[in-house]
Amino acid sequence: MSSSSTYVKEFLARAKEDFLYRWEHPSQNTASLDQFELLKTLGTGSFGRVVLVRHRESGSHYAMKILNKQKVVKLKQVEHILNEKRILQAIDFPFLVKLQFSFKDNSNLYLVMEYVSGGEMFSHLRRVGKFTEPHACFYAAQVVLAFQYLHSLDLVHRDLKPENLLIDQQGYLQVTDFGFAKRVRGRTWTLCGTPEYLAPEIILSKGYNKAVDWWALGVLTYEMAVGFPPFYGQEPIQIYEKIVSGRVRFPSHVSSDLKDLLRSLLQVDLTKRFGNLRNGVGDIKNHKWFATTNWIAIYEKKVEAPFIPKFAGPGDASNFDNYEEEEIRISINEKCAKEFSEF
Ligand code: ATP
Repeated sequence: MSSSSTYVKEFLARAKEDFLYRWEHPSQNTASLDQFELLKTLGTGSFGRVVLVRHRESGSHYAMKILNKQKVVKLKQVEHILNEKRILQAIDFPFLVKLQFSFKDNSNLYLVMEYVSGGEMFSHLRRVGKFTEPHACFYAAQVVLAFQYLHSLDLVHRDLKPENLLIDQQGYLQVTDFGFAKRVRGRTWTLCGTPEYLAPEIILSKGYNKAVDWWALGVLTYEMAVGFPPFYGQEPIQIYEKIVSGRVRFPSHVSSDLKDLLRSLLQVDLTKRFGNLRNGVGDIKNHKWFATTNWIAIYEKKVEAPFIPKFAGPGDASNFDNYEEEEIRISINEKCAKEFSEF
């Protein structure tokens, strides 16, 4: 135990040094649009889309997130997008999506990430209904490690959900979408996230901290093992009432260990929520539900994954839904230069 906790401490200290260097010296403008062939839309968001692309020179495939600057400004998301890029270019962890290039032109911002070909956990989960507890535990363990890494750098993710968890060729997770991620020491106040996954303190407009990610881990783990989220309703307001009520109901198949862990994560009282106590993430990693988890073997990707997505070869996008394609238009004048000068 002591040797593994020393290992973790030393690992996180080195990781912080690397992160802080990149955080203070952000990369900028490391490619241009003409270096890529655009192949197929993989997903769409509020101000742009994510497209599978092929790097002409190397032949490698990537996922390119294209954001329209004017839409970002209109939706008051400038700060969020600047955070997203600055954080993505500075982090480095096996279960976090890797940014390879970033650049901008007159109309758009571009984030070019490693392509994760297995598709969203969301599609696989909806297809099978629910995961077995060992299957859910395999994924939850990776999220725990990813959040331990992020939180040690004072980063909160704030948008955990099955749509933002991609499955790689080995069946391991890649957390994507750092659109709401932020470096916070202490508390923050912005209302953001996805209704079903919001922690009660966000809904109640209290200042909140990293503990909101541990709440979201509880929601995710419940949804993986049960097939639907613990708090749901037709309208957001109905969801919020359930979230702040402090009541969680479990179907009878849920094991007593998992119920115990979920009650500690979906804990409205912050002085009792696991992840937020004196032992930090230790309370979660040492919980009985994770008793068979070998944390280092998970980190090293040495545990056999319970599910390997189909993969027909580089550039295969069959694990993603189809979207209507749209041509990318670039204005002849530079838009929103000031707002995005640091991008
Ligand atoms: P939203 O507004 O829904 O939060 P967004 O514009 O912030 O979306 P992302 O969530 O980052 O965009 O990406 C949208 C979708 O694109 C993802 O859910 C996923 O399906 C796909 N995607 C994102 N990154 C990758 C990647 N690296 N490899 C493969 N697909 C990806």
